[in-house]
Amino acid sequence: MNQLKSLQSKLKSLRLSETSSHLPTLLEEAASNDETHAGFLMRLVDYEQRRRDEKQMEKRLKWATFPHHKTLDSFDVSEQQSLSKREFNQLKELLWMEQLFNIILLGPPGVGKTHLAIGLGIQAIHQGYKVIFTSMGELIQTLKTEEITRKSQTRMKRIRNADLVIIDDLMFMAMNSHEANLFFHLINDLHDNASVILTSNKAPKEWGELLGDPAITTAILDRIIHRAEIIHLNGDSYRMKHRKSIFEEESVTN
Ligand code: ADP
Ligand code: MG
Repeated sequence: MNQLKSLQSKLKSLRLSETSSHLPTLLEEAASNDETHAGFLMRLVDYEQRRRDEKQMEKRLKWATFPHHKTLDSFDVSEQQSLSKREFNQLKELLWMEQLFNIILLGPPGVGKTHLAIGLGIQAIHQGYKVIFTSMGELIQTLKTEEITRKSQTRMKRIRNADLVIIDDLMFMAMNSHEANLFFHLINDLHDNASVILTSNKAPKEWGELLGDPAITTAILDRIIHRAEIIHLNGDSYRMKHRKSIFEEESVTN
C-alpha cells in the first residue's frame, strides 16, 4: 500500500473519515501553499471540524422534519403590524430558549404562524440546538404508537431529547381523554428541559373544548403558559394578499 492510501486508512480508523477522503486535496494545497507543519495540521483539523459541523447540521435539519424550508430572512416583519422589528430581533436571538421560555403564536390562517415557527426552528438548528417540528395530529399518533412501533419510539426519543419542539396547529383535532393524558405527560416532561412553540388559530380559552377534559386542559395550560410569550399575529392573510392572479393589473388610465 502506498503511503497516501495507508494514511487514509489510518485516519479512517481514527474516525477522521472526512479528512481521510479529502487528504489528497489537503496535501496538494499544502505543497502549493508552502505551508508550515503547524499550518497544515491546523487546516486539517479545521477541515474535519467544519465537515462534522456541516454533517451534524444536515442531520438535525433532516430530523426536524420541517414541512417547508422557511427562514427568518424571508419573513417580512413590516407585513406584520402586531410584531415590532425589535421584538422580532429578540425572538431571533433565541435568548428565550436559554430561559426555557415557550412561544405561543396565535392568529387566523395565513398570517405567517407556521413560517415564523419554522424560521425560528432553523435559526435554532444553526445555533446548535436540536429541534423537532410536528403537527398536533402526528404528535398524538406518534405518542399512541410509541410502545408499538420502532419508528414512533425513535421519533418520541428525538422529541424528548430536543431543545425546541414546535407543535403546529394545536387543537386542530379533538382529543379523547387518553390522548389528552398522553399529551399532558409529554408537555410535563418537556417543561424543564425544552422550549415549545405552539401555533394555533384558536385562543387558549377555547382549547379546553377541544381537549375535552377541563382538568387536563388547565394542567397543560399551566405548564405551557408558566413561562411563555404569547404573540398574536394578525392582519390580512399574507397568502391572500400576495396570491397570484390570472388577471392583469387594471391599467391606471382605464
Ligand atoms: P399560518 O401558519 O398562519 O396559516 P403560514 O405561515 O402558512 O400561515 O403562511 C402562509 C404563506 O404566507 C406562507 O407561504 C408564508 O411563507 C407566507 N407568509 C406569511 N406571512 C409572511 C410574512 N410576514 N413574510 C413572508 N411570507 C409570509
Ligand atoms: Mg400554519
